[in-house]
Amino acid sequence: MIKVRNLKKEFTQGQERTHVLKGFDLNVKEGEFVAVMGPSGSGKSTLLQLLGGLDVPTEGDIVINQSNLSNMTEKERTIFRRKYLGFIFQNYQLLPTLSVEENIAFPLHADGKKNNQIIIELLDSIGLKELGPKRANLLSGGQQQRVAIARALVNEPSVLLADEPTGNLDRGKADEILGLISRFNRENNQTIIMVTHDIFAAGFADRIILFKDGVIEQVISRKDDDFAKYVANFMA
Ligand code: ADP
Ligand code: MG
Repeated sequence: MIKVRNLKKEFTQGQERTHVLKGFDLNVKEGEFVAVMGPSGSGKSTLLQLLGGLDVPTEGDIVINQSNLSNMTEKERTIFRRKYLGFIFQNYQLLPTLSVEENIAFPLHADGKKNNQIIIELLDSIGLKELGPKRANLLSGGQQQRVAIARALVNEPSVLLADEPTGNLDRGKADEILGLISRFNRENNQTIIMVTHDIFAAGFADRIILFKDGVIEQVISRKDDDFAKYVANFMA
């Protein structure tokens, strides 16, 4: 589903060049749930931006669904992103004055489509059936993140990219969001890449990628014997 090869990203500001991603490979299978962890400033958000076609690598390839993002024009990338990718962010990024329904439907309208049935099903699956007409900014943080998840999934994206989706939520609300995300992963075989600081959150994933100084330092798989022990150690 996703193939990353020799991914490099530098930022230039005046005379200064920062090498944020320093060349690594990554494969993600369809239906896999991958968590990306690492210190602040290690390049996790940059990686998600590149995977999401919101920015371009300095070097290397990102292949999603057999399409190489590095070979696309900006316009092609935008079309690809709307069609195949969904995003969730730490701060929800809903349109505050639109209703819950309008927020969820937003990507469909951008696509010229309209499908009320999908909206109704998504509202139900995020547990906000009654709140469709409510203004988004009147919702709690946890509810807003549910809406953001529904919006990200409305186009049935190949990949859901989540950047610290539980970063602004308390433990209980975070667990609800994680439960929801992992349910979409299990039941719909939704491929997910989630950046997180939260080891509890990472424990929902099939694999944890530990990111440091712009490269992948370690990959831990749920199938590994020491997955649970590793997660426990990390939490201690
Ligand atoms: P993380 O998400 O792991 O905290 P980021 O990917 O946000 O890290 O940032 C990694 C590094 O790249 C930081 O040093 C940050 O300052 C730098 N960086 C990120 N985006 C830009 C940008 N648009 N221009 C210049 N530097 C950037
Ligand atoms: Mg970040």
